[in-house]
Amino acid sequence: MTRYISWYNRLMFDFKQIQGDFPILKRQVHGKPLVYLDNSATSQKPLQVIDAMRDYYTQHNANVHRGVHLLSDESTLAWEQSRKTIAEFFGAQAEELILTRNTTESLNGVAYGWADHQLRAGEVILTSLLEHHSNFVVWQQVARRTGARVEYLHLTETGHIDLDDLETKLSTGKVGLISLAHVSNALGSVTDLERLVALVKAHGSTGGGTRPKIVLDGAQAAPHLPVDFAKLGVDFYAASGHKLLGPMGSGILLVKKALLESGEMQPWFFGGGMIAEVGTKTTTFNENLADRFTPGTPDVASAVGLATACTYLTKLGMKQVAAHDLELVTYALEQLQQIPEITILGPSEAGSVTKPKRIGSVTFLYQGVHAHDVAQILDSEGVAVRSGQHCTMPLHTQNQWLATTRASFQIYNSKADIDALILALAKVKKVFN
Ligand code: PMP
Repeated sequence: MTRYISWYNRLMFDFKQIQGDFPILKRQVHGKPLVYLDNSATSQKPLQVIDAMRDYYTQHNANVHRGVHLLSDESTLAWEQSRKTIAEFFGAQAEELILTRNTTESLNGVAYGWADHQLRAGEVILTSLLEHHSNFVVWQQVARRTGARVEYLHLTETGHIDLDDLETKLSTGKVGLISLAHVSNALGSVTDLERLVALVKAHGSTGGGTRPKIVLDGAQAAPHLPVDFAKLGVDFYAASGHKLLGPMGSGILLVKKALLESGEMQPWFFGGGMIAEVGTKTTTFNENLADRFTPGTPDVASAVGLATACTYLTKLGMKQVAAHDLELVTYALEQLQQIPEITILGPSEAGSVTKPKRIGSVTFLYQGVHAHDVAQILDSEGVAVRSGQHCTMPLHTQNQWLATTRASFQIYNSKADIDALILALAKVKKVFN
């Protein structure tokens, strides 16, 4: 299988060209060539994205909708076209897309725009112990405001969300909302969505006879796996554009059209640009679903940048991107396993494109050495990784991990980067022996 993927990669990916698209990769750090393995935090941006944003600001910048001049028309077109491209990338309709600044804002959007007025006291919000704080703290706050209760799904030994536990918890009939990571940023584990959605569909909730709503935190999935919102069977999907080659300050929230049309999903920011009629007593909101959720001046340049990133990834093909990322994870697991001081956390195999088990990153403990020391030594060798708790304090506390080290990948990484990581890890041993 690995050999097949390698062959496929060679056929589909021109590494020299891809790496050439990312000017920052030519940088040196501490006099060494940069090996960037902190992609789960944010990805680097290709020239295509940088150029598209530069072109927007140098040629088309003006506020959208409100002008009756050419630049405003061009800017409006760029905004609408970008929305279309981004929605298409995620298999969604343009009206289902709300552009945000990041996953955190998107999840807060579900909290304020849906949960605050749809969940009732006593209903259960199900999430898990491996969630990023963005998908954890937000629900605690919703619970405080609504009287709903947060419960946490167990994890399996491999670091996946325990769907047997989901089945048990669903059977209470009290669950109103389920919000889970599509891929864990701490363990790389991929949630089995097919089973998750089937279980939820099979269990209605007592809350009005409708099934619980499903929110997916796709921050670590969207950069690595094809996402088809029309087929997933979930109600909300949140992701960060800046992790998938797009600009900082770009994120998405996808909402099923039925929830928008029925008014179940409400705007949570208010102001100009999203209204139909404003009176002293009441205000009605724009019939156009895209405008209804965009109060104020939108960040057109970010949308243009993110759309360009989506086009870039579409040209590579998300299946090929997934195959490449799975191959890197497999190789990293193989290599790291050879180091006796290292304990790898999370799934021990990557799986396949159709059944991925772990993707995007490999997190580990280095016996007797704090993760920050590991990361600092790696940095001195030009290798950028992340150390700490990766905004998953409950997971780290439960497992008594003080801090962990995470290497994470993108399309411009190759096995040579993992070799550089392994070589740099030898320095950790040298320093701490
Ligand atoms: N969820 C997950 C799984 C993440 O990995 C991250 C970012 N590390 C977030 C949410 C938050 O993303 P952002 O900082 O872009 O809002």
